[in-house]
Amino acid sequence: MVSDVQKLMHLQEADRHILRLKEEITSLPHKVAAIEQKLAGTRAILDGAKAAVKADEAARRKHEATIQELQGKISKYRDQSLEVKTNEQYKALLHEIQFAEQDIRAQEDKILELMLKAEIREKSVKAAEVELKDETAEIEKEKAEARERTAVDEKELADWTAQREQLRTGIDPDLLRRFERVSRFRGSGLSEVRGQKCLACQVMLRPQTYNEVKSGKIVECESCQRILFFDPTKEEAPAPVINAPHHRRRPRPKSDAPQAWFYRPSYGECGEVLLVFNNDSSTSSRRIYDFHNGREIGDILVREGKYTLAFPEDLTEDSIRLNGSFDEAEFESWGAEMPMTVLDNLHADLHAARTDSSHHRDKHHDEPIPTEHSA
Ligand SMILES: [Zn+2]
Repeated sequence: MVSDVQKLMHLQEADRHILRLKEEITSLPHKVAAIEQKLAGTRAILDGAKAAVKADEAARRKHEATIQELQGKISKYRDQSLEVKTNEQYKALLHEIQFAEQDIRAQEDKILELMLKAEIREKSVKAAEVELKDETAEIEKEKAEARERTAVDEKELADWTAQREQLRTGIDPDLLRRFERVSRFRGSGLSEVRGQKCLACQVMLRPQTYNEVKSGKIVECESCQRILFFDPTKEEAPAPVINAPHHRRRPRPKSDAPQAWFYRPSYGECGEVLLVFNNDSSTSSRRIYDFHNGREIGDILVREGKYTLAFPEDLTEDSIRLNGSFDEAEFESWGAEMPMTVLDNLHADLHAARTDSSHHRDKHHDEPIPTEHSA
């Protein structure tokens, strides 16, 4: 291996760390803001519950005042009834008294209703208060953690940035410019050559280019422009695969598997990507990863129905079905970037899938290359 290439590898690693740290540093305040928003929501619920208690108390006082007023009226009618001259007048007063008593009962019912409601109101105030207390404690904790994390990240970022600068000064400026240009638009600037192929873009190298890479010359891939390197320890022994009777074929992905991986050579502005679909009982989800660096692109998308029906626009002619099966917990543990080992396995499987299809093509000359659709 050439030392220039090794320097570029270190530089690529530094770039990756710098990118990850910068992203984490910017994401932390968003996380805190999200909790603060939740806190404001709980505070609004508490204020609402307290306002409702106050309104109920005011209503109760009003009913009590009305009752007092009605009782005053009743005793006035009673006094009057002692002085009436006719039976009609007496009956009329008695009627008024009954009427007022009815009204008092109605007011009392309303007070009782309010008292029952007050118990519920009190409970919701208490619950909101507890919630607010918990959330306040949580946000303080999150803020402290975010501060600590940011401080650690910033220190690491400074270290990596210094290392990066150091590394850059040791690399030939022309080579560095080529590397950084391709890194910028492809996410990585280096690619390993194995089996005469550029592993990043899977394009076969011309024999002369291949020999140059093997001899340690700095050469770019003619297809993806990445700087190529060759690691003799990783090169498989050239096996006579085509006519070998015991050539082990790559396991075909099962069409009804609940999880399906696909490679797509182009996906809008993202270029080459890996897609993974997971069928649930009634829904399916989609995740997208950058083919070269394994970083997750965008959010998880969930739709109704099986993925074959839910995401028809993703199952294009040129997509290639890959082998891979991971449970939900593993996806969670990856975070925003799949582990290199997983990415390497998927790359290797793509390579195997292409080898399979080229064997197929060798045997049946004019047939199109089979794309391994599950549907
Ligand atoms: Zn390439």
